[in-house]
Amino acid sequence: MGARTRSAPVRTAATILFVFAASAASAQWNVAMHDGRRYVPVGDVANFYKLNPPAIDGRSFTITGQARTIRGNAGAREIWINNVKYILCFDVVAKDGHILISAMDVTKIIEPVMRPGKIKNASAVRTVILDAGHGGHDSGARGPMGAEKDAALDVVLRAKKLLEQNDYNVRLTRATDVFIPLEKRPGFANRYQNAVFVSIHFNKSNRGGGTGIETYALAPRGVPSMDEENLSYSDFKQYPGHARDSENIALATAMHSSMLRHLRLFDRGIKRARFVVIRDAQIPGVLLEGGFMNHPNDARQIASGEFRDAFARAILEGVTRYKSAVAGQMQYFKPTTVVAATDNTAAPLLRSEPSAPVGSKTDIVQSVKQATGALASPAPGN
Ligand SMILES: [Zn+2]
Repeated sequence: MGARTRSAPVRTAATILFVFAASAASAQWNVAMHDGRRYVPVGDVANFYKLNPPAIDGRSFTITGQARTIRGNAGAREIWINNVKYILCFDVVAKDGHILISAMDVTKIIEPVMRPGKIKNASAVRTVILDAGHGGHDSGARGPMGAEKDAALDVVLRAKKLLEQNDYNVRLTRATDVFIPLEKRPGFANRYQNAVFVSIHFNKSNRGGGTGIETYALAPRGVPSMDEENLSYSDFKQYPGHARDSENIALATAMHSSMLRHLRLFDRGIKRARFVVIRDAQIPGVLLEGGFMNHPNDARQIASGEFRDAFARAILEGVTRYKSAVAGQMQYFKPTTVVAATDNTAAPLLRSEPSAPVGSKTDIVQSVKQATGALASPAPGN
């Protein structure tokens, strides 16, 4: 993936600041319009989650409290929640003395990451669908030490073993070097319930300079994909995976932070895309990119058995952390076979409030939903 050129938004909307009371909640959201979208000040985010008021230093902000942190910079799209890097749907904005985050990002990233235990209808994971990318005549990315399809399959087979040792059911979209059309993969996954879909890939950059790991969750409706700058028609289409927006980002969080801990490659963050495999999955899904086939260091690691075992452990740990997180469990319980490789002190917090059973109503979803009404602006030609 190359660098994207960014065209500055030309549309300037007058800022309308208004206040409405969140339903039955004490928190208020001061909603500001910017560039046709709804934003809320970072101070309201801190207030809502009962964190300290934001420390603002020029264009950067940091919110801390209750062993959590949220930090970012106005004019940029990266945000760090509990030290996990996310690429937001829209830039953080500085306006009229406030630092603002889009309401879309509050509902689609911050809320499910801060309170995964409040995600509605999140089901306990019993089955893991592992999808080794590419296969057969489609070798995927090629590097000096091999092809993506082979590395992905090997990691999947190692992960299968670990997951089964930890009492998960595992189903593979492919267990050998065969070609499987993209559409068939989510189709296969959709036969299972209480399941998650994890697609394993490796990257390639045009000039060989790209390095590190990244995790993709489905871009919510109305959000540009990471590989395009402007909204297009397909950005407004409703896909099966959108029913799982909250689970998708919670799963991405658990998987990505586990990958970071086990693989120790450069952190490229959690990103959004509309890849077919995650777009059409009706169960929570992620696509993992475990390094670059054509980067000298990444390639050497990807070729090693140690790295592939570590990747398998990361998958086991990620699934298990997701399961704990959506169950609202305060403690992360370590899978039995991960003991030696796990460093608890490095674990990003994925905790939710103890009293929140799965499926309980979230105030922020209710309140920001009102603010997000404008997001459903009609698609071109609609
Ligand atoms: Zn791939």
